[in-house]
This record gives sequence, structure tokens and C-alpha cells, in this order.
Amino acid sequence: MGMENICMKEKLDAILLDGKKRIADVKNLTELQDVKSFLLGKQGALTDILKEIPRLDVSMRAESGRAANNLKDQFTAMIEARREEISLKASEISPDFDLSVPGIPPPAGALHPITQMCYDLNDAFRSMGFEIFQESDITSELYAFDNLNFAPDHPARENMDTYWIAGHDQGRGGERLCLRPHLTGASVRYLQTHKPPFRFVYPGRAYRNESTDARHERAFFQYEALIVDREFTFSSGKIMIKSILSKVFGRDVPIRMRVGFFPFVEPGFEIDMGCLVCGGAGCSVCKHVGWIEIMPGGTPHPNVLGAAGLNPAEFTGFYVNIGLDRLVMMRYGVDDVRLFRSADLRFLSQFR
Ligand SMILES: [Zn+2]
Repeated sequence: MGMENICMKEKLDAILLDGKKRIADVKNLTELQDVKSFLLGKQGALTDILKEIPRLDVSMRAESGRAANNLKDQFTAMIEARREEISLKASEISPDFDLSVPGIPPPAGALHPITQMCYDLNDAFRSMGFEIFQESDITSELYAFDNLNFAPDHPARENMDTYWIAGHDQGRGGERLCLRPHLTGASVRYLQTHKPPFRFVYPGRAYRNESTDARHERAFFQYEALIVDREFTFSSGKIMIKSILSKVFGRDVPIRMRVGFFPFVEPGFEIDMGCLVCGGAGCSVCKHVGWIEIMPGGTPHPNVLGAAGLNPAEFTGFYVNIGLDRLVMMRYGVDDVRLFRSADLRFLSQFR
């Protein structure tokens, strides 16, 4: 009978030793669940022992039963402790995890090439002491037309040409509100609210109520720069534009100035830049001329200065209207700018 007792104790010790090792060796909760079934489940080693107890000598049943139940409690506690341990380490990266394997990049957005060009120009102008000025896309009849000498019956004021908005400007004389048809109103607002000399750029959208085709858009982006000072020569302006373009393109950009005629400046000029795609030899982007027109400009019209409360006899200036589209075409050597407005991500994602 003593032998049976010793036998039982040895069996339990062996199960304990084996169980301890199994519990310590599990690496995750699934494995732990398997070990739990193996040790305590219906087919488990300990269940087999408990089944043997009724067959033992009566004097040993109680002690063996206690020992077996005690072992069951021990295993239960050990498994719980191990479960907690594994849970705490759940966020740790396993050493088997290979960090050098290339991942799957999440789809990311990017700036549109025209927006990127606008930001690059902002940086270049800011580095030369210009302020970036922006105002709301909604303006009033005063700023869109009256200030700029548009006659009261001028066709541009008609519903056909401008988007009028219900409501009136509460702040001033109750003028009608509209989407700005040009950026010049913004420049007048800046001149009125700042002190001379002035150096600022005012990028933004302008709106025209017209049907769209290859050359006309209802909304388009403009980028204008204005210097107003008591003295400013065209040659300084030319050097300034050359430096700005060289900064934006990261290399020397040849430019030339030609006489041009525009209603809002007097005198006017046209600035061309040497085609960067062909280096001046001629290509489809520059229409085989070697140069591309990028910005009209000139001395601001006396009416604009007058609207801002400046004496046109005392002040002069330098104004350019930069063609963002043209600069983007130069940057990427693309000869049809409509592609950039196509909203076709297969095309646009090339320019990230
Ligand atoms: Zn070219």
C-alpha cells in the first residue's frame, strides 16, 4: 500500500515539473490555452490521476485527492500569472520580426504642382522682403470695380461676367458683394491699410462667369506682385525677377523684357524666360522659339494708385502678374497645362 502512495506522489511531482516547463515555454495566449487544456482538460494528465483515486486504498484516497486538487490549483494560478505576463508584453516587437522587410506604404496625398509652385514663389519673394497678402475670395463692388475706374455701365459688372452674391457689404457703404473678378482689388486694400514703401505678393483665385473651354476657366489662379515706392526702375525689377526665378528653379534662368501693352499699366512690358526644357534650342513647350512668356507687368496705373490714396505723381512702382501655369510647364517640361487641371491622379501622382 505504501508503494501506491509513493507512486502517486511521484506521478504528481512529474506532472508538476512537466506542467511548469510547458507554462513557462508558451509564447502567446493561443499556446497557453493549449497547455491549459493539456494539463487541466478532460483528456488532461491530471484528470487521469483523479480518475485513479477511487481505485486507491481507502486510507490514501483523501490525501491523494488533496494533493491532486492542490496541483490543479497551482496550475490554475501559474496559468493566470503567465497570461498576465504575456498580455503585458503584447505590444513588444518579437525578435523574429524583420524590420528590414519593405512595408506597404499607406496612400498619401501631396501638393498639387501648381500649389507647390505657388509656395515656392512665396518662399522666394519672402526671402526678398515681400509680404504675402491674402484676402477673402468674396469682395464688394467698390473693390472689384468702383475703385478701379470701371464706369457704372461697364459690361464687366453685368451678371453675364461676374458672380454676384446675395447680400451687401455691412462694413462699408452697403455695396453689392461678388466673387472677385481679379486680384487688383486686393492690392488696393493692401495699399490702403499699410504704409509705403510697399512690397507684397497676393496670390489667389479669381472668378469669371463664363462658359469654359480650352482657354477659359470659371475660376483660375493668379499670382501678382507689386512694389510701390517713390523710385523704382525697370532694371531693378528685371534683376529681382531673375533672382526669384533662379531661386525657384534652382539654377540660373535667362530672362528678357519686351514692350507690352496692357490696359492696367503704363508703360507695360512682357517678361519672357529662356526655355529650360530645351535650353533655348526650341521645343514643343516653347513653340520652337526658345523663350516662353511668363509674366506681363508694368508700372501700376495711376487709377490704382489713386484708389489707394497715393499721389501718382509722387509714387511709381513695379507690377507683375506671374503665370503659374507657365512656370509649372517649365518645371516639368509638360506642354499642355490642361493635364494639370485634369484631376487625373495617374498623371498628377508623377509630380509628388
Ligand atoms: Zn523649349
